[in-house]
Amino acid sequence: MRKTENQLLVIFGASGDLTARKLVPALYKLYKDKHLPEHFAVLGVARSFMTDEEFRKRVALESKYLDDSEEFIAAFSEKLFYEDLHKKYDVDYRELNERVQDLNTTYQCDNNIIFYLSTPPSLFEAIAKNLTAKGLNDERLGWKRLIVEKPFGYSLETAKSLNEGLHRYFKESQIYRIDHYLGKETVQNILVTRFANSIFEPLWNRDYIHHVEITNAESGGVESRGGYYDKSGALRDMFQSHLLQLVALIVMEPPLSANPEEIRNEKMKALKSLRLMTDPKVLEENTIRGQYLASEIEGEKVKGYREEVDVDPDSTTETYAAVKFYVDNWRWADVPFYVRTAKRMPTKVTEVVIHFKSPHHQIFKNSDMNKDNKLIIRIQPDEGILVKFGVKVPGQGFAVERGNLDFYYESLGDESHIMEAYERLLLDAMQGDATLYARADEVEAAWRFTDPILDHWKKGDAKIYGYSAGVWGPQHADELIEGKSMWRNPCENLADDAGYCVIE
Ligand code: NDP
Repeated sequence: MRKTENQLLVIFGASGDLTARKLVPALYKLYKDKHLPEHFAVLGVARSFMTDEEFRKRVALESKYLDDSEEFIAAFSEKLFYEDLHKKYDVDYRELNERVQDLNTTYQCDNNIIFYLSTPPSLFEAIAKNLTAKGLNDERLGWKRLIVEKPFGYSLETAKSLNEGLHRYFKESQIYRIDHYLGKETVQNILVTRFANSIFEPLWNRDYIHHVEITNAESGGVESRGGYYDKSGALRDMFQSHLLQLVALIVMEPPLSANPEEIRNEKMKALKSLRLMTDPKVLEENTIRGQYLASEIEGEKVKGYREEVDVDPDSTTETYAAVKFYVDNWRWADVPFYVRTAKRMPTKVTEVVIHFKSPHHQIFKNSDMNKDNKLIIRIQPDEGILVKFGVKVPGQGFAVERGNLDFYYESLGDESHIMEAYERLLLDAMQGDATLYARADEVEAAWRFTDPILDHWKKGDAKIYGYSAGVWGPQHADELIEGKSMWRNPCENLADDAGYCVIE
């Protein structure tokens, strides 16, 4: 176990939703599980005025912790403090610095400080500059780390400019770019599945893999996030960040060790090897965007995307994106990757499916199932791993049907507590482990691949297909997949796939 040193956590944007909904509950869970250091305090910072007591009330824990004793919760709550910035983030941090120094001394935080930027990204650089003006990036007496929330840039150009801005004040080794997908146990397990077993890796290449499919489906629409989403879209919101991080873990070569830099070097090489698409014809043939239309799901009327609150009624922002691409390296040459992400799908699910090639020589007449060897890595829900393979139907002859070999996380029992993504990521940053955080060059490589698709779609002559809310996206997306293959339309249960699932 790594040591968690005494420290102070300063959260900028602490009056926001993320602090109350994710960060404070994650800290409480770490506290409850005795992962926090002996000396620890949290300082929330934002423009709005609040007293410490008002801040504690604002971020009060959800009802699921009400079984814990009042004294225990109060002892945690007493570690939370708040400082307002007089309505602006870009101001002299004299008062803030005094509060930081005071808490550091009172709570014996040993000058180790994490600054968590949970504000709109347009404020990141100004905050880093103002911290630096007060020497709060200086590591001579204790380490200083900066965690930055997503989105990290809006394009390659803006991501580069954000990196340059932050690097003016903090070293890359001090910066932790959060991608909460990497905090998921099931995502980290991709590394273990691949590199802690000898049975998968020999098959993990173009000789045995026919294609790779990744689905990220949401059953909900944009809900109250219409204003944000309409400027972002599915490709920026999910594909450039979370899904390309998944792709990197599937594509990467074995790292020399589990050292953070070794892993991130290999992920970076993987992202660099994605074949860029720049020709408009190639982009038109290999990318599909769509928007959900008004529909009825289980008798309930559902709005179309353009009717959602804060969405432009003529919006061309995609709520569905599917991309086919290739990876130009020795291991993956000519293996197509299909990645899709969308809202208003029949179910909420994220999974990776490795489709294996058929045996070279078929000896069983009805062995269509042999074409169907799949390794399914379920990220959420019903987390687990499933291998689909052909088995003999009992009786005469050699009829083949599909069998399942499976592993479910829930089978590990209650004792093996699966940490929430934010719990794991916060603890890692507290311990100085950046393995599960994106490095500057990785983020830029992901944008370099995504930018031409966004540019192509922006031009306006690229088609945008409508799909009824509650179906698996536009029909045209089926044509993206080559040959007889089809998207696996997964159900909530890992083992089931079908055209139709129960809609949540
Ligand atoms: P909120 O919109 O709730 O705002 C966060 C804070 O930023 C608020 O405390 C507010 O504080 C300040 N703020 C908001 N708008 C402005 C503005 N225009 N100018 C200056 N300050 C502003 O965001 P969340 O808490 O939901 O998210 C924080 C960050 O995390 C965002 O960058 C978001 O993109 C990212 N994120 C959030 C997720 C979530 O689940 N909520 C998931 C992934 C990423 P005050 O006005 O008091 O200063």
